[in-house]
Amino acid sequence: MTRGEPAPHRKFDRCVDDIGEVLFNDSGMHGFRFYRYAASTIEHAGRFAVLLFLILAVLLAGASEAAAKALTISNHFSPLNQKRPFRTTTRHIVLHTTEGALEGSLRKVHRFGEAHYLVTPSGEVYRIIDRRRIATHTGRSMWKGKSTLDDFTIGIEVVGYHDEDITTAQYASLRELLRQLKAIYRIRDKDVLTHSMVAYGRPNRFHPQRRRGRKKCGMLFAHPDVRRRLGLSARPTRDPDVAARRLAVADPELHRFLYRPPECGPP
Ligand SMILES: [Zn+2]
Repeated sequence: MTRGEPAPHRKFDRCVDDIGEVLFNDSGMHGFRFYRYAASTIEHAGRFAVLLFLILAVLLAGASEAAAKALTISNHFSPLNQKRPFRTTTRHIVLHTTEGALEGSLRKVHRFGEAHYLVTPSGEVYRIIDRRRIATHTGRSMWKGKSTLDDFTIGIEVVGYHDEDITTAQYASLRELLRQLKAIYRIRDKDVLTHSMVAYGRPNRFHPQRRRGRKKCGMLFAHPDVRRRLGLSARPTRDPDVAARRLAVADPELHRFLYRPPECGPP
């Protein structure tokens, strides 16, 4: 809807005002009018129910409009955007924390095309790579035996740190961004992952096996409370590659944080 255009639900707003007038604005005849109002309400219970339904529908529509308004996206395409091939499939969203302040984070992510979106502390969202193309954001990664997650994931960089809560504005815009992307690509809540869930490391002299625990990036987005605030009702309950012994656990503390059952309380 463009600005200045009257809201399409204006007539229902007027109905709400009418009821308010009878109930609250006429001091002298208040009781009587209220009685008459109540009687007519019972008499026209059917109509009243319809009216209530309409009011509820308008309120819900208003709420979703407000949620959409919480999201301000602007183009800040990486110079590499045009060179990136298109993805053929999209199965997951991977959440990251930039581990730095806005200016440096934006510069790096933009220059190397390391995410599709970047969410600033004030809740603004920048488009870095066209969501249909491949962004290089997961590095050495694996999930359910499949590596190179860049080929089938959307990457969102949130300016912040893996062990610090994000801002209220970031919650609002990230929630709406996730809602829209989940709808477009039919992604389930439990398929919204964190970089720390999918990153893995090569064997080294301390770890003879390929292992999880290479990165803590975005780990706060595995916390049930954080996910609830982002409109995500489920999360992965176990690491599929550790379960299948494709990878070893090199950081048990991180592993517990990512997959601790909610009934065990906060990590
Ligand atoms: Zn990351």
